[in-house]
Amino acid sequence: MRLEELVAISQFYGSNSGYVIAGGGNTSFKDEKYLYIKGSGTSLANIEPEGFVKMERGLLSGIWEKTYPEEADKREAAVLADMMAARAPGEEQKRPSVETLLHDLLPFTFVVHTHPSLVNGLTCSVNGEAAAAELFAGDALWIPSTNPGYILSRKVKELMEEFKTRRGKPPAIIFLQNHGVFVGADTVEEIKAIYRRIMDTLEAKIIRKPDISDTTYVYKFSEWFGRLLCGFGGRTEKEHDWYVQFRRNAEIARFVQDRASFAPVSSAFTPDHIVYSGSSPLFIEDSTDDPSGKAADAWKTHLERTGIIPKTIAYQGMGVFGIGISQKAADNAVELFIDTVKVAVYAESFGGGRFMSEDQISFINNWEVERYRSALLAK
Ligand SMILES: [Zn+2]
Repeated sequence: MRLEELVAISQFYGSNSGYVIAGGGNTSFKDEKYLYIKGSGTSLANIEPEGFVKMERGLLSGIWEKTYPEEADKREAAVLADMMAARAPGEEQKRPSVETLLHDLLPFTFVVHTHPSLVNGLTCSVNGEAAAAELFAGDALWIPSTNPGYILSRKVKELMEEFKTRRGKPPAIIFLQNHGVFVGADTVEEIKAIYRRIMDTLEAKIIRKPDISDTTYVYKFSEWFGRLLCGFGGRTEKEHDWYVQFRRNAEIARFVQDRASFAPVSSAFTPDHIVYSGSSPLFIEDSTDDPSGKAADAWKTHLERTGIIPKTIAYQGMGVFGIGISQKAADNAVELFIDTVKVAVYAESFGGGRFMSEDQISFINNWEVERYRSALLAK
């Protein structure tokens, strides 16, 4: 049964932190009639057959016949409604991944989409496109940075058709700039071979690897940080318990030396980084005379400038704090920040890192608010 193969390969990549962080990424299997796609909110590491949503491919391809509103919010809502209507009978309580349309487009039985740090060192770099063309000539398609959802799917559809005309076959590898990679094949063995090839090829090109030695997970908080967090609770409209996760390793230590050394990790490389660790980490300069006051000022200035509560705080000379209203949110914030650090280091081998544009970052921030609202409405 091929659905079992899908489950096995999903768990295989889902449980490998080199490929999947914080439940990101998704997988699918298709036949002529149906697409089985990872449900939103499930995690690849422990997914079971029920975690996939069965979709009618005839209805999904009907989406390409339609014209949608130009305005982003209206357009995405209309496409989402059509996507929901494409769920097979009995699947109504499940929510298919936002990347469903993309999976359906790729003419392969299995598709495994992930956001590996090493691959994103390529997709989030200045010379990524040229390097991808050189290293994977003829097999890989490069998709320039594009807002997620319908627009991204449409872009992939267009460029994939062009690729097929030019090369006489569909691309088995699709690099999405500032996002990740899609790999498609008709067997799971081929999927693994392609991923192996991608990883081996990139590893051979890497001039410097992230140094994650000397990792500290738990830090004895100095008293000021505790006081500061209490202050944070009082500064927001809602009262929350704040959870904090601290991390430091040799690589983080390099980036938090001062504001200048922090620059290569000071914004967001991919949508997942925005969602989990925020688009603008707060950098607090060390101050021995009034550490608590300095941090509180930095927090206030940050809120005024961005309007968003930082999910990540880097403290000069110390390390990084992930902050959230649950333990999991705090953990994810710090994990994705560490991924940012890895991506920045890998990107050094491809001309240096390239963040998402301000426009794209604000699209994701708004999109998150919309998704949060719709999740509340769905309750
Ligand atoms: Zn993705």
